[in-house]
Amino acid sequence: MSEPNTPSAKQKIQLLRDKFVQQLPHRMKQIDAAWADLQSDSGNSAAITELHRAVHNINGTGRSFGFRQLGTAGDDIEILLSRCINTDNDESCADKLEQLATLLQTFKQDVAAIAATAERADDTCTSAKLSSVEPSINTNTEPASLLLYLCDDDQLVNEHLSLQLKYFGYQVVHFTELEQLNRAMRERCPDALIMDIGFPEGCHAGTAMVKELRTKLNSNLPVVFLSGYDNFDARLSAVLAGGTEYFTKPANVQELVDTLDRITNRYPPEPYRILIVDDEPTVAEYHSIILQKAGMATRCLSDPRAILNVLQEFRADLILMDMYMPGCSGYDLAKLVRQVTQYESMPIIYLSIEVNKQKQLCAMRIGAEGFMCKPVDHNELVGLVEIRAERMRLLKRFMVRDSMTGLYNHTTTNQLLESALILAADNGNTSLCFVMIDIDHFKLVNDRYGHPIGDQVIIALAQVLKQRLRGADIIGRYGGEEFALVLKDVDQEKAACIINELREAFAQLHFHANNNRFSCTISAGIASFPKYRTLEALREAADTALYSAKNKGRNQIDIA
Ligand code: GH3
Ligand code: MG
Ligand code: MG
Repeated sequence: MSEPNTPSAKQKIQLLRDKFVQQLPHRMKQIDAAWADLQSDSGNSAAITELHRAVHNINGTGRSFGFRQLGTAGDDIEILLSRCINTDNDESCADKLEQLATLLQTFKQDVAAIAATAERADDTCTSAKLSSVEPSINTNTEPASLLLYLCDDDQLVNEHLSLQLKYFGYQVVHFTELEQLNRAMRERCPDALIMDIGFPEGCHAGTAMVKELRTKLNSNLPVVFLSGYDNFDARLSAVLAGGTEYFTKPANVQELVDTLDRITNRYPPEPYRILIVDDEPTVAEYHSIILQKAGMATRCLSDPRAILNVLQEFRADLILMDMYMPGCSGYDLAKLVRQVTQYESMPIIYLSIEVNKQKQLCAMRIGAEGFMCKPVDHNELVGLVEIRAERMRLLKRFMVRDSMTGLYNHTTTNQLLESALILAADNGNTSLCFVMIDIDHFKLVNDRYGHPIGDQVIIALAQVLKQRLRGADIIGRYGGEEFALVLKDVDQEKAACIINELREAFAQLHFHANNNRFSCTISAGIASFPKYRTLEALREAADTALYSAKNKGRNQIDIA
């Protein structure tokens, strides 16, 4: 829950708008001063630039806040002045003074109209300030224990599957008769339903039941059909019953769990991280609020010179970039960022009041992902940013994750361990454990059942680790059948408890390969900080402990 005094996004935007209006007299004074300078010397290039900047600021920021009173006068002034700025042969703007004077007059009236409306709107502001607070984003990453219903007329399938799913942390209630399911559904709706299709009542009785339940209970419950049929009619009946997924028997439990995790939103996705660069802090903050409201994490930057440091620290998925900034245009800044190898593929979206398509295209040639005009439509901004950031996440995933298990790869695990060590040392040497896990006699699994089955065992262990550990723990695939964990704020005794539970849970999983049922075990070595202080020391100690666990007969853990 959010703090009771946290203002809502709407209130925050209102406060920013108020701030903009309050600053208007000051901004107008800047315009007057530059205009006076220009009148006394029409070749004063500093005054031309200053006037252009001041008008542009009000124009751009005002548009962002949705002040429709701003007509075209501001745009026309910008165009006229940029012509003076861009001529190479030091021309003055003497021939444009008269036109500028008229335009400035209109522009000032527009700005005065903003101030007047803002005063009248004060009452609505007050009521906005009293409105309710926004819910905060759920940052709890621990998997919830979710309830599954499983309905299959084969009691053996039910029992076997329930057992497997329970090891992945699901709570399962199973039924062999459609009527039992019907009754249970009325009492309590589960988080997902796994449903057979053929029942004694008919070869599509399962899909018919789901269809009926959906109508009666008006529910959009996620349903996975699990059927012995693999024909068009059965699949179509499943789609028409609103089935989310379709598995044929025997189902690969790991794939089934993956699917269930996804359709029940078991793991809340980490918010997208958006860096907003705008020389106007209020505008940056305004866009920040819109994105935060959509659940994203943001960082505002008004000084472009700090961008490389901020990128390093904030790990942005995307940059939202203002086009016109004094000293360094968005165009140049994008180029600069992309020349750093690490950020070659960083998505950049320009935000500007530039409506000239030609100029927009020119800016996009640098490789920008999009161009949005101020004022932005909130939904459009959120949609565009989300789509691009999602693609970036996917790309990043390939760089830091192991493709088979989705866990961190070797290099990333080491990097994360290094950062965790620095943090633990800074926090007064809080304890931390490094764990190395290895599957016992894994070579035999490959030899007996084949490499693909071996892969399934690796994936299953990865699943168990993901589901049993906390969101803050670091889980990596260190090598073939070797895994590494970093458990934060945990001493070696607690770590031993946690790893022993993991070991037991994994040993209970059953794997199937050409009519054989088998299970696997793991051994683990634990080393703790601050007893061992460096990455190398921890790794060596954990490795030695693992070796000793293997020597003592495997399926056990050892502490360095
Ligand atoms: P121990 O109990 O001593 O750990 O014995 P082990 O057989 O597990 O250890 P060993 O190091 O002799 O064999 C590991 C095997 O793991 C050898 C290698 O072919 C296999 N392996 C490594 N990566 C993968 C993978 O991605 N998929 C599969 N299926 N096998 C893999
Ligand atoms: Mg700007
Ligand atoms: Mg092994």
